[in-house]
Amino acid sequence: MNPTEASTGDSGGESSGRSARRPAEATAADLPYLERAVDLAAEALDAGDEPFGSLLVGGDGRILAEDRNRVHTLGDRTRHPEFALVRWAVEHLDARERAAATVFTSGEHCTMCAAAHGWAGLGTVVYAHSAAELTEWLTALDAPPSPVRCLPLRDVVPGLDVRGPAPALTSRLRALHHEFHRRRTDGS
Ligand SMILES: [Zn+2]
Repeated sequence: MNPTEASTGDSGGESSGRSARRPAEATAADLPYLERAVDLAAEALDAGDEPFGSLLVGGDGRILAEDRNRVHTLGDRTRHPEFALVRWAVEHLDARERAAATVFTSGEHCTMCAAAHGWAGLGTVVYAHSAAELTEWLTALDAPPSPVRCLPLRDVVPGLDVRGPAPALTSRLRALHHEFHRRRTDGS
């Protein structure tokens, strides 16, 4: 997702209704995939993009596709990795394969990517940090407000199977976002 889109993120929590049920944390088996997503986020940061990365994993556990944020290098604020993976999945997988696939992603989907995920009929999402965590980090950094409201994934795609966050990766992810905003404010 885009870090400036998380102004109202919430990974579950206090409100009533569907989003009240907080997703289960990522499992030990999820970690290698999430670590790869975080590596892709670091790659994005090195290239001058926002630190987000994602991969699409088939029902057999094989990595099918991966991408990273490219909003600055391509000058297009919709170039989120989760959206790129939806495009890839629609072009390369049938409906059954899409439903069996899992998207592992460094950050919980933004509203745009969540909707695309739902329309494409993709399966489980596992994220390393939640939208709520990102909101907390960005608020502390005085990041500019988002033009798009961020909602918990299951508020956008009811019934979606979701796991996250992954506390083992929190400090590394927080450092990536801090570094991105340090460079933004320094102009470096
Ligand atoms: Zn997005």
